[in-house]
Amino acid sequence: MSSKPDSDCCSGGPAGPALKVADALERVLSEARPVVGAETLAVRSALGRVLCTDIVSSIDVPSHTNSAMDGYALDGKELVAEGETRMHVTGTAAAGRPFAGEVGAGQCVRIMTGAPMPAHTDTVVMQEHVSRDGETAILQGGQRTGQNVRQAGEDIGAGDVALRVGTLLMPAELGIIASLGVSEVSVYRRPRVAFFSTGDELKSVGEPLDTGEIYDSNRYTLYGMLTRLGVEIVDMGVVRDERDAVERAFAEAASRADVIVTSGGVSVGDADYVTEILEQAGSVGFWKVAMQPGRPLTFGRVGDALFFGLPGNPIAVMVTFYQFVQPALQALAGIPDPAPPPSVSAVTAEPLRKKPGRREYQRGVLSRDGDGRLFVRRTEHQGSGILSSMSVANCFIVLPEDSGPVPEGDEVTVQPFVTFV
Ligand code: AMP
Ligand code: MG
Repeated sequence: MSSKPDSDCCSGGPAGPALKVADALERVLSEARPVVGAETLAVRSALGRVLCTDIVSSIDVPSHTNSAMDGYALDGKELVAEGETRMHVTGTAAAGRPFAGEVGAGQCVRIMTGAPMPAHTDTVVMQEHVSRDGETAILQGGQRTGQNVRQAGEDIGAGDVALRVGTLLMPAELGIIASLGVSEVSVYRRPRVAFFSTGDELKSVGEPLDTGEIYDSNRYTLYGMLTRLGVEIVDMGVVRDERDAVERAFAEAASRADVIVTSGGVSVGDADYVTEILEQAGSVGFWKVAMQPGRPLTFGRVGDALFFGLPGNPIAVMVTFYQFVQPALQALAGIPDPAPPPSVSAVTAEPLRKKPGRREYQRGVLSRDGDGRLFVRRTEHQGSGILSSMSVANCFIVLPEDSGPVPEGDEVTVQPFVTFV
């Protein structure tokens, strides 16, 4: 990273060319490496964390070949090729209660789902295909040798890598780890993020407002977004628009965190010191991105810490966070393929205003029409100071750089806010 703003993104002053979103993200990710440091946690405490070693299974999962159905277990060679097979029921096997006896010629075993297959059996006929006459089972024709049986190790074999380094531990992964009988895992330590707001007009909640002042909301949205990502946070409060104060805050943040996130003070007003001080205290990677909102986005480094100077506007804070800061934090957390939020296509239910030359993130409301097709409308207010539009919206409508106004009925890309699993 150069110590001066790069010529391709930052020459020409504030009206000059800006970096494309994709190029800006590539630069961010080229600087974002997994944190150094691991910890060992009980499986449940590791939810949301990232594995820093492979987990190799020491057992077969399932541990024994077992029935996938309630029915009758037998040796498939005993099945009559066409028509019914009649067999003597010699015992019962249930999950956790194996049948220990011998299964001889002409014999089968009543078996429940999950029960180990008795010796010399390889096939289960589901009970719906069986009628009973006392101790005799009458199996319908059309059965196939080997059916309805789960093989030992068919999920995970002993010696297999069950989960790879870099896996984010979600509910399914906790279950997989437990299925191996493993009680503790080694995960990356959580990235530490220091954040503060800049602005002389900002008051913290609980303080009275003077003329011209507003409450600092960005630290609350940032708190929410960072906390949901599961990183460690250092909330440094509000910093005045004074050179010394901003400089001191930079130094403190860099000593305490892997990543510094600020809001405000990155445009080119008289009181906008963030980019200037980043240049002195560290290095600037870029400070303008061809996007709306979020154009004056400063990215760089202070010492070992990555630095994101987000714009002050509350919507711009959220848009730039999700597009750049979140993927960077995923990379620091140890996820190998960090990415912006996933997107889907939807039809726009109305014409969309759009200026070519920049990527726009409009706030949208995504729903389905009667035929099940996804369609999207803009929220009423689109100003980058209208934070309530983020609450009304359930997606970003992402309009690419080269697009102009979008007519009603066109397909557009949207990033839904909801994720699960
Ligand atoms: P700036 O980027 O510092 O020029 O700020 C742009 C706009 O965002 C101004 O209207 C600020 O008052 C507003 N703003 C800046 N920081 C915050 C904040 N922490 N909370 C709410 N609004 C803010
Ligand atoms: Mg400001």
